Amino acid sequence: MAFIPRSEWGLPATWPNRRVDPSRRTGFVVHWDGGPNPDDAADEIRLLLAYHRYHLHTTKTGGFDYNLAVGPITGNIYEGRGLDVVGAHAGGANTPNIGVILIGGPGNLTEKGQQGLRDAYALACKHTGRQLRQLAHRDVNRTGCPGDDIAAWVHAGGLSGGTVPAGGGSTGGPRFRPGDITVGVSVKQVQERLVAHGYNVGPHGIDNDMGTDTISAIRSFQDDQGIDVDGIVGPDTWGRLSAKPGTAKPTGLKAPAFPLPNDDWYFGPKSGPKQSVSGYYSHRSDLRRWQQRMKDRGWDINPDGLYGPQTRSIAVAFQKEKRLRVDGLIGASTWAAAWTEPVT
Ligand SMILES: [Zn+2]
Repeated sequence: MAFIPRSEWGLPATWPNRRVDPSRRTGFVVHWDGGPNPDDAADEIRLLLAYHRYHLHTTKTGGFDYNLAVGPITGNIYEGRGLDVVGAHAGGANTPNIGVILIGGPGNLTEKGQQGLRDAYALACKHTGRQLRQLAHRDVNRTGCPGDDIAAWVHAGGLSGGTVPAGGGSTGGPRFRPGDITVGVSVKQVQERLVAHGYNVGPHGIDNDMGTDTISAIRSFQDDQGIDVDGIVGPDTWGRLSAKPGTAKPTGLKAPAFPLPNDDWYFGPKSGPKQSVSGYYSHRSDLRRWQQRMKDRGWDINPDGLYGPQTRSIAVAFQKEKRLRVDGLIGASTWAAAWTEPVT
């Protein structure tokens, strides 16, 4: 069965990426999801990415939890965190055990699925240089996972007899960092698209250099798009960057909710009434977010989260440009306009 590196199926960054030496691995733990089964090969990847989002946003375990995954349709072995990274699949048992998920729920132990699991096991044994213990998740934690059928199959020695997949040597798992591009385009192309979407890639402009300003613009773009903010240009981010920017007037972006307690509150001087929030005592990261957004629009502003003369004068200029009430205070409408008004 084929071994699919994570860059090929588009798994975004996972963390904390704690390394474990292969010699410390003793077991191989099989999981399932218990949910719907994939319909076809593309559906396997769709479900894997859904697991990733679930682990990112709901269980908050740093993204995709498993070292490997196996597809019941194709029998493919998908690289997850990689063989030498501590997973987050089995509480208290992630260092000694390599975790693999057979995608799907009841009925997913297909011929292909069995073959993929066997080959994944062969790969893990070869990589660690030993016969790993054959375990079902329920053997290490109190859980029904991976269902009775798979558990019985594992306990009956179902994992034995596989073949190490070709290309399975690259098992450390590329772990992308902010600024990495996982699709075949240049930094220059990414910068051009960022600029086309109205983002500021820094004082050097389009220089084909992935500096902190460019990474910060990628993050802002991802944030505005409502996708994972990892600073990495993967297939999803690139697809959105490649799309034609809203050339029609509004940006097409939704502003984040106004973060202050009430609509008559605003970001303003430290010396003002309680409705005037300066960032010095609270809401500093909220004000920083607005400042960062203004910076991305091309304003020369230092996103420090504090309301001072610079933020005030930029708010005044922006309000004039957008025909908002000109008071230099960042209330609900000046807040929202930073996202919804066209960049000019
Ligand atoms: Zn499990």
